[in-house]
Amino acid sequence: MTHIGRSFGGPGHIEATCPCDLAPCGLVDAGNVSDECDQHPTTAGKTMRTGHAAEDCPEMGRDVVVALAKVLRARQAIVDAACEEPEGFHSLALLDAIDDYGRAVSHLNAERIRNSKRLRDYTDDHMSDCNEAADEIDPEVIA
Ligand SMILES: [Zn+2]
Ligand SMILES: [Zn+2]
Repeated sequence: MTHIGRSFGGPGHIEATCPCDLAPCGLVDAGNVSDECDQHPTTAGKTMRTGHAAEDCPEMGRDVVVALAKVLRARQAIVDAACEEPEGFHSLALLDAIDDYGRAVSHLNAERIRNSKRLRDYTDDHMSDCNEAADEIDPEVIA
């Protein structure tokens, strides 16, 4: 069977938010799509942009997709709450502000890693691993 996804280069926000069970890689097993899903069943007629045979599954990445789903739900909760305010409305500025907030939180956490004296004292060898980990969650600082 094949693991499939609608984003380029791996699982993305569609896999994070659709009702299908996720394979260990965070993609969807083509033989196990949810009837509720309007993205992954062949009857939906949507383009799959990433995938691999189940036997080639890297079997990691599902946690990232689950975490992404959590961020998207939290983001929607902010929008929903704003819309309940008498003067609240669905504004693009609000969406940009939330995305900026998310990037700022990632950047904060990455900087905590990069600037940790405790990690730095651990050994320089490990510090380069830690910095690579920080770059992974905060890619915009890589020039
Ligand atoms: Zn799905
Ligand atoms: Zn897979």
